[in-house]
Amino acid sequence: MMRLMMRLRRKAGISCARVQDLVQSYLDGELEDGPERARLIAHLEMCRLCGVEAETYERIKASLAADPPPESVDRLTQFAASIPDLPDTPDTVEGTEAS
Ligand SMILES: [Zn+2]
Repeated sequence: MMRLMMRLRRKAGISCARVQDLVQSYLDGELEDGPERARLIAHLEMCRLCGVEAETYERIKASLAADPPPESVDRLTQFAASIPDLPDTPDTVEGTEAS
């Protein structure tokens, strides 16, 4: 075992390592109510490191949950549509007719 891990700070009766294991479930609302959840919440309030961790995860989650701006979807759609139509056969190009 990694002895060093055992030396991580514990606050509110729960270690930083444990909090970081649980924080994603907690923020996703998947952590069931109970003493561990209460300890986790208390820990997040006390521990700056884990507080920042939780905040970062929350922000990532929020940005993933946000709808993508419609114009970027449009652009992607247009880009995708343009791929099979690459003008490698210039039969529709104007002004290049040989006369
Ligand atoms: Zn912590």
